[in-house]
Amino acid sequence: MEALRILLATDLHGSSAALDLIPAAIHEHRPDVFLACGDITHFGRPPSYAEELLRRVSVRTFAVPGNCDPPALLDVLERSGVNLHMKKATVEGHSIVGLGGANPTPFGTPFEIGEDEIWKGLDTIMERGAILASHPPPFGHLDLVPGAGHVGSRSVARIVEKYRPHAVLCGHIHEAAGIVQGEVTMINPGAAKDGHLGLVDVDDRVVARIL
Ligand SMILES: [Zn+2]
Repeated sequence: MEALRILLATDLHGSSAALDLIPAAIHEHRPDVFLACGDITHFGRPPSYAEELLRRVSVRTFAVPGNCDPPALLDVLERSGVNLHMKKATVEGHSIVGLGGANPTPFGTPFEIGEDEIWKGLDTIMERGAILASHPPPFGHLDLVPGAGHVGSRSVARIVEKYRPHAVLCGHIHEAAGIVQGEVTMINPGAAKDGHLGLVDVDDRVVARIL
């Protein structure tokens, strides 16, 4: 396995600032992979946002939609060869497994998936020590909403328990940004629309930082 550097952006929500921020960070930090971890658009707006983002990114890219993206965004990602939703890719000997959308929310957002479906989808493709790129955080980590408690996905948490991923890259809960450093390192860098990105160096150990 080679060392792998991942630039992580989540919760772009169609931000035009993120379209400049991300290429600048790629230029500065020279990642091997750019990973867009969901809520790329803001409920589908602006319409050509994902294509524009992908045009501006010059390194190998993977992406999953978020719960605020229309499921049709999957077609755009698929056509562009970057879709990682319920899929597995291999880069430099590292497996990366992706989950888009989110477990059901009280808001009825466009791309929500039942916990059973999340479990079945991930359990068939996940492998021990893979990198998990999931829009929703695992229940209990990086998922605390003031007044609402933990809102992460229980199935993602079960997957983390069963397969002990090398790293968990997530987003979704803008106010729960942070890093959990440990046997399983987890990071939600915070929303790219607010200027936040993550840099994750994956080797024998994982070093994550918020830019
Ligand atoms: Zn979001």
